[in-house]
Amino acid sequence: MPDEPGQADVVVVGGGPGGSTTASLVAMAGHRVTLLEKEKLPRYQIGESLLPATIHGVCRMLGVTEEIEKAGFTVKRGGSFRWGTNPRPWNFLFALSPRLSAQNSTAYQVERMKFDEILVRNAQRLGVDVREECSVREAIVTDGRVTGVRYVDESGTERTIEAKYVVDASGNSSRLHSHASGKRIHSDFFRNLALFGYFEGGKRLPGPDAGNILCAAFDEGWLWYIPLSDTLTSVGAVVHRDQADKVRGTQEEREKSLHGFIDRCEIVRDMLTDATRVKTGTYGEIRVRKDYSYTSESFTGPGMVLVGDAACFIDPVFSTGVHLATYAGLLAARSINTVLAGELGEDQAFAEFEARYRREFGVFYEFLSSFYDMQSNEDSYFWKARKVTNFTEGDVEAFVTLVGGVASGEEALTDGDAVRQRFRESSKNLVDAVDRTGTMQTESGEKMFELFGTRVVSDVMQGMNEVQSRGAYGVHTKENPVRPGGLVPTADGLRWNAIG
Ligand code: FAD
Repeated sequence: MPDEPGQADVVVVGGGPGGSTTASLVAMAGHRVTLLEKEKLPRYQIGESLLPATIHGVCRMLGVTEEIEKAGFTVKRGGSFRWGTNPRPWNFLFALSPRLSAQNSTAYQVERMKFDEILVRNAQRLGVDVREECSVREAIVTDGRVTGVRYVDESGTERTIEAKYVVDASGNSSRLHSHASGKRIHSDFFRNLALFGYFEGGKRLPGPDAGNILCAAFDEGWLWYIPLSDTLTSVGAVVHRDQADKVRGTQEEREKSLHGFIDRCEIVRDMLTDATRVKTGTYGEIRVRKDYSYTSESFTGPGMVLVGDAACFIDPVFSTGVHLATYAGLLAARSINTVLAGELGEDQAFAEFEARYRREFGVFYEFLSSFYDMQSNEDSYFWKARKVTNFTEGDVEAFVTLVGGVASGEEALTDGDAVRQRFRESSKNLVDAVDRTGTMQTESGEKMFELFGTRVVSDVMQGMNEVQSRGAYGVHTKENPVRPGGLVPTADGLRWNAIG
C-alpha cells in the first residue's frame, strides 16, 4: 500500500528544460512545487543547439546566466546551412533586433547533461522539492480532474502526491499526456528518423562562425554538425522513416549507416576527415530517435498542463525544441501563478497559455515546412516528399486546424512580392546582421529573407525578442495581447494581467 499522500501546490513531472523552467517560475511566485524526475542527474539528452530566447530570456529570469556563462559552453552566433541549390553554405545569424546588443544575440551549444543539471539544481535552490529517480506511473483523477500522480521512488516504493496542478514535462515518452483533452497527432510531413553519435577532432567553421550549428542537406536527408567543445562534435543524420532498416540493429550496423550518410554529404565528410568517433562512455553510443514530430489536440486538461516535448515537437533543423519547452514553461507558470493568486479564472488563464503556445508551435511548423521546401531536389525521394505542395489534405487539415489560423491562411505567407518588399523595407538591419560576408546572396538565402519577412514569423521573432529583452534588461517592455481579449504578462513576467 502506498504511504500517506504527499502534497504540493504543483507537481512537475520531468526535470528537462521544460520542467525545470515551470517549476522554478512557480516556486518564485511563492508556491510549493515538487519535481519528479525518473533519472539520476546528470542524464543524457539530445537537443544541444539552443536559441537566444532561452539563454538571454528564460535563463536570465531563472537567475542562471552567470552559471551558464561559466560552464564553458560553445558560443553559437547562428546557423550555417548547406541547403538549397547553391553548393556554398550560407549563414543565419541571431543578431536580428536593434534593441539587443551583440552580446545578447548569441546562444550556446550545450552538453545537455550539464545544461539540464544547472537548471534543476537552480530549481532546488529556488525552493523546488526535486526528487530524482522517481518515476511517475499514472495520474490520479478525481471527478474528471487530475489531482495528483502515483510514482515509484528510488527505493522502489509506490507513492502518491496530490496537487492543484500537475505539469507534464516528461518529454516525448510521456505517459500522462492523454489526460489533457485530446490525442497526440503525428505529422506526416516531418515523420523522419534521426541517427546520431559523437566525434573527437572534427574541424571547425572559420572565424566567428566556429560555434555555429552546421546543417547540410544530402540526397537522403540532412546532417547536423554541432561543435560542443573545441574537440567534441555531435553529428546526426535526419532521414526518411523508410530508412528504418538502416538504423535498426547492432551498434556496428548503426555505425556503418551513420558513416554511409556522412560519406554522401561532402561538407560534413570533409569536416570529419581527421576525426574519430567516440566509442566509450555516454557519448559512445549511436542513438536513434523516430517519429518525433507531433502535437497534441489540447495542451491542457482539468488540473493538467503539457509543456515541452510532452505537448509537441516539430523537427530539429532550426533548434526549436528547447526554446519551445522553456517558453511553454514560462507561459504555463504564468497561468498557474495567476490562478493560484486568485486573480483570474482557470479558463481565462489557461486559454492564454494554449493560444500563445499553439501560435508559437504553429509558426515554427509553418516556417520549418517552408525551410524544407527550399531544398528542392526532384531526383531525391526524401526531398520530393517534402515539397510543401505535397502535403496531404489530412495533414494540412489536422495541423492548420490545430495551429488556429496562423498557418497557411496568412496573406503574408502567400504573397511573395509583397513580402519581399515589406521585408526589404522593414529589416535592413537584419540584412546587415545576417550577412557580413555576402554568403547569404544565394537563391536559398533569398528565400530565407522571404521567410523572415512574413508577418507570422516576424511576430514570433518579436515575441522571442520580448522574452529576451525581459531577461536581458530585467524590465518590462510593453507586450501586446496576441489575440482579441487576450492577456498580457505582469511587470515581473510571472503572471498574466487582463487589459483595461
Ligand atoms: P526532455 O528534455 O525530454 O525532459 C523530460 C524529462 O522527463 C527527462 O529528464 C526524463 O527522464 C523525465 N521523465 C520521462 N518520463 C518520466 C516519468 N514517467 N517520471 C518522471 N520523469 C520522467 N532541441 C533543440 O533545442 N536543439 C536541438 O539541436 C535539438 N536537436 C534534436 C535532435 C533530435 C533528433 C530530436 C529528436 C530532438 C532534438 N531537439 C532539439 C529537441 C529537444 O531534444 C527537446 O525538444 C527538449 O529536450 C524538450 O525538453 P523537455 O523538457 O520537454 O523534455
